[in-house]
Amino acid sequence: SKTAYVRTKPHLNIGTMGHVDHGKTTLTAAITKVLAERGSGSFVPFDRIDRAPEEAARGITINIAHVEYETDTRHYAHVDMPGHADYVKNMVTGAAQLDGAILVVSALDGIMPQTAEHVLLARQVGVDHIVVALNKADAVDDGEDAVLTDLVELEVRDLLSAHGYGGESAPVVRVSGLKALEGDPRWTASVEALLDAVDTYVPMPERYLDAPFLLPVENVLTITGRGTVVTGAVERGTVRVGDRVEVLGAEVETVVTGLETFGKPMEEAQAGDNVALLLRGVPRDAVRRGHVVAAPGSVTPSRRFTARVYVLSAREGGRTTPVSTGYRPQFYIRTADVVGDVDLGGTAVARPGDTVTMTVELGRDVPLEAGLGFAVREGGRTVGAGTVTSVG
Ligand code: GDP
Ligand code: MG
Repeated sequence: SKTAYVRTKPHLNIGTMGHVDHGKTTLTAAITKVLAERGSGSFVPFDRIDRAPEEAARGITINIAHVEYETDTRHYAHVDMPGHADYVKNMVTGAAQLDGAILVVSALDGIMPQTAEHVLLARQVGVDHIVVALNKADAVDDGEDAVLTDLVELEVRDLLSAHGYGGESAPVVRVSGLKALEGDPRWTASVEALLDAVDTYVPMPERYLDAPFLLPVENVLTITGRGTVVTGAVERGTVRVGDRVEVLGAEVETVVTGLETFGKPMEEAQAGDNVALLLRGVPRDAVRRGHVVAAPGSVTPSRRFTARVYVLSAREGGRTTPVSTGYRPQFYIRTADVVGDVDLGGTAVARPGDTVTMTVELGRDVPLEAGLGFAVREGGRTVGAGTVTSVG
């Protein structure tokens, strides 16, 4: 039988973010390689991280581009999000629970639009700590290039400060994912320095272990002969095999008959863990991404809420024209993707770059609460980022 997951170190969720081609996936692979050589975890090559989600299934844990590894002091689940326009959706849904992020910035290119957009979204979804990997440092190693790299570093620190991340104190580590992956000792050390920065700079978050169990469903799959499995990160509380849960969205109550993390069975999952739950007698078609598994009776879904929303400027990839009452975009809330009617109150308009208060009437009920972050999307791109201020 499979080896059980043993909780020996605190578990944290982190991820790479940043502009396409700045080296997120290469760095992710390099981290696993450097740690595998130290004997903690296994090397996950680039093409296993970067392939389609359907192909990434391991055991019953199918988490989009998740890798796991351990440093001396911690166990990490690391998500590498794709660097295209769909990034933001994954960031808001999969990354809402990131305890910290590694912002990858190419020292060759500096800050690009997605760099800024991801920092903004990280703020909106409640990522409190960012460590910067100034990547491709191998390519800007001497003379004038070194001066340019200093400028990029200043620019990144300013960007972090502009979003309330304390740019003066954030670690900015010059790395080369590519050279570390090739085994170059100097750049291997740079990746180790980055991991040390993550270990020390990203604090162990408060976990709401005493709260009723809640898990937003990221993926659903069927294990032949065993039943329907849902995967996702536990948002709060704990769950054990044998516990009763309800699936909001599917409106069914059932029992958890199996629990795994990264393919290893576990007795109890807790807030922050990436898990797969086997659900008794739930048909595959009844459950979808966007549903929420929760302790029975612990949440009441609703469709009306008030929120503060930042409307992205055109420069950030947002709209070029204002929105007004009657606007009907998609709302990405936890892992759900729901249409909603926006009411700005009378004839008010929200221009790109504005932060406004709006009332939203969703197309269906979802579990909502004050403080919950979400993204506003339209035609496949993010046009706003918001936080629920009140429900009802
Ligand atoms: P992502 O889109 O951010 O995931 O970027 P990738 O990891 O796919 O890398 C994009 C390109 O940059 C690839 O051609 C990599 O080989 C290259 N690259 C990544 N890291 C480095 C690095 O540290 N140094 C250099 N010189 N090239 C790199
Ligand atoms: Mg990538």
